[in-house]
Amino acid sequence: MKKIANYINGKLVAPQNEKYIDNYNPATGKIYSLIPDSSEADVNDAVVAARDAFVGWASLRNTERADWLEKISHGIESRMNELALAESTDNGKPLWLARSVDIPRAKDNFKFYSTAIRHFSSESHQTAEGVINYTLRKPVGVAACISPWNLPLYLFSWKIAPALAAGNTVVAKPSEVTPMTAYLLSEICEEIGLPAGVLNIVHGLGHSTGNALISSDEIDLVSFTGGTATGAHIAKIVAPKFKKMSLELGGKNPNIIFDDCDFDKMLKTTLNSSFANQGQICLCGSRILVQRGIYEKFKEAFVRKVKDMKVGDPMQEDSRQGAIVSQPHYEKILDYIAIAQEEGGKVLTGGKAIHLEGEHKDGWYIAPTVIEGLDQQCRTNQEEIFGPVVTIQPFDTEEEALALANSTGYGLAATIWTSDLHKAHRMGNKVESGIIWINCWLLRDLRTPFGGVKNSGVGREGGWEALHFFTEPKNVCIAY
Ligand code: NDP
Repeated sequence: MKKIANYINGKLVAPQNEKYIDNYNPATGKIYSLIPDSSEADVNDAVVAARDAFVGWASLRNTERADWLEKISHGIESRMNELALAESTDNGKPLWLARSVDIPRAKDNFKFYSTAIRHFSSESHQTAEGVINYTLRKPVGVAACISPWNLPLYLFSWKIAPALAAGNTVVAKPSEVTPMTAYLLSEICEEIGLPAGVLNIVHGLGHSTGNALISSDEIDLVSFTGGTATGAHIAKIVAPKFKKMSLELGGKNPNIIFDDCDFDKMLKTTLNSSFANQGQICLCGSRILVQRGIYEKFKEAFVRKVKDMKVGDPMQEDSRQGAIVSQPHYEKILDYIAIAQEEGGKVLTGGKAIHLEGEHKDGWYIAPTVIEGLDQQCRTNQEEIFGPVVTIQPFDTEEEALALANSTGYGLAATIWTSDLHKAHRMGNKVESGIIWINCWLLRDLRTPFGGVKNSGVGREGGWEALHFFTEPKNVCIAY
């Protein structure tokens, strides 16, 4: 069985304790590889390697670091099919999705920051005749980057690329649930001869390996994407040490549909925003709010389309949905469906596990599920389920839609459908959310700020925001 390795100080190495964790293929429910159960000793080695590499890497010209990032991007491109297959096998997502979205985006993350750092600049302020301030933007040091399982290489590279571009060295931990593409990335870095210690990838469990990393006194900042509870735990450890922190956390996103919208376009996109990647995207809209004038029409058309969505083998081109990422997550989603029914919700379609045949009979599949009849304050409408489960709720007025949209502790993303420009801007301004999509969803421009408000996180990624986060500004005032 394939054993993957840590990548520390430029080398692929086994964990010192020689312990491994089973890695499952969610499509079959079978163990298919082993990943290091790294201990604090491995984390420390990685942090020391990153510390040793820091001065050399930070003192390269921006254009030199940009060249390295471009080489990584080319390395990903040249192994596109292998990476897509690995991502789908590890995560359960359809292969076509990994091939068309996840891996191209990982390649683009490195490419984007290889160009961004070439154009990055800092400010100067003339205060008076003979007095000038200029701001240096210096790399912070050793960056700890921790990412989740839903978009494994996509989110891993979204942190690593700007951290490296800005001149930091990195110790990164992917989710233990989906480690394979991070491992292949380390192979790529080894192949291209990235200087030793610049990027280190340590595999293992969150509560041990991850915890050792964020608790290390030798790291200088933490960039974390994952659940809100984990983010709160990390903040408790990191904040008292006054280290920089960026936390990209969970969501319970509203999809607000007014009766004057372009119905067909909205319907098509809403299917995606509800169920793409089995609903396991932090930006999926899990609360669908529909204005009463089109509520019944929407319900009938949406449920009909959802019933037609094929849940199947992720390797099949016609599988619209693949497997749920892990058995614990599969059980969590099924528990939430039961809770929704206890709370009085009516399952309009789905609501159950799907059992495929043959080698997929033990895989973790759930039918896309639509539930109505729940009030906004119930657990189903307040807590993040992070699976193929959406609720639908009617509303009458703009004010009511706004109150419903804002009535959770989260504030990551929202989608608004209307052909009234004024209403679109009013709502866009007032919905409490870091990201708003109007008449579209998941149209990403890598230059824009990305992140959430309230329990959805602290800080922003993307574009200059990330380069600002991964650098420390130092102001120099000179009188001449
Ligand atoms: P978790 O919070 O469980 O894990 C995220 C990462 O943190 C994993 O690598 C995990 O390791 C690690 N981790 C867990 N505990 C610790 C710890 N004590 N110290 C350090 N690291 C730790 O989230 P999931 O992986 O379950 O991801 C799903 C969540 O991510 C959802 O809430 C989703 O909304 C959110 N998310 C947010 C996004 C955003 O941009 N705002 C984007 C995508 C997802 P391991 O897996 O090995 O336990």
